[in-house]
Amino acid sequence: MQPQSLSKQVDLIDVQGWDFHHTTGVLFIRGQDTAIIETGHHKCGEQILATLQERALPLDKVRYVCVTHRHGDHCGGATPIATSLPEVTVVGHKYAIGTLHDPHRLNEGARQIFGSFAQDIQPLPPDIPTQEVQDGSRLDLGRGVELEVIGTPGHTSDHVAYFELETRTLYTGDATGLLGPERFSVMPTSFPPSFKFDLYKSSIEKLRTYDPAFLVFSHFGAVTGSDIPVIFDRALATLDSWKETVEQAWQNQPSQTAVKEAIQQRFADELEVFPPAARPLFIKVMAQGLLQSLQPKSA
Ligand SMILES: [Zn+2]
Repeated sequence: MQPQSLSKQVDLIDVQGWDFHHTTGVLFIRGQDTAIIETGHHKCGEQILATLQERALPLDKVRYVCVTHRHGDHCGGATPIATSLPEVTVVGHKYAIGTLHDPHRLNEGARQIFGSFAQDIQPLPPDIPTQEVQDGSRLDLGRGVELEVIGTPGHTSDHVAYFELETRTLYTGDATGLLGPERFSVMPTSFPPSFKFDLYKSSIEKLRTYDPAFLVFSHFGAVTGSDIPVIFDRALATLDSWKETVEQAWQNQPSQTAVKEAIQQRFADELEVFPPAARPLFIKVMAQGLLQSLQPKSA
């Protein structure tokens, strides 16, 4: 959990999603008040609280906990954090806030798809303040530090990214892909049932226009400077290669198994995030999500 300082105002913290290093990162952004961008799983939320205490950051200065979307590995930590911080408001798209209040269906679906790799979201108590945001919403942290919310549907319908305007730090969540921390591969976050190919692609193109100085992935890490356009290019190119591979495999043999095998054969080595034990399952699930989004009736 060593924080990496991206700038005077922004720290990246490895919260060890799935109990594994370099899988899930969150940001602490400080102005007059502090915002925590993303929370990881429920267990990561407890680690975030421990980090605040270790670093003697006043708990009553944390004003916002912002989540990018409704998945448990992004918003699951919001409940343990919010119930321990006196002045906090939980921020997200209305569907993400709705899921936090009533996570039953999402938890069920995640368990069906990810088995033992799924971790339940605990319901957010109704008395915790929440704020629903959408594309263009702003959050002022004081001292010139301000967050803009960017609507980035595609991975899910409720996905938003957060852009800090002074430092030009863009937290993409799952909207640009999965960044390999070693080889800097960028794989599509094409998990079913919510992935939509065209929306996902246009969200990447939209994020690129913000011309960030720091580009931060939930899974995992930060890219800076001239590497950023390379990573955006790679995200789009890999997405197109996946589409081509899925379509070709389906043409040869129209079965989900054939498509999953084709993706696994061609791209398994490039999946560098998530615990090694989870990767074979996750890449198959990502292949299935991509196929469903391209051929909704036949898949
Ligand atoms: Zn997600």
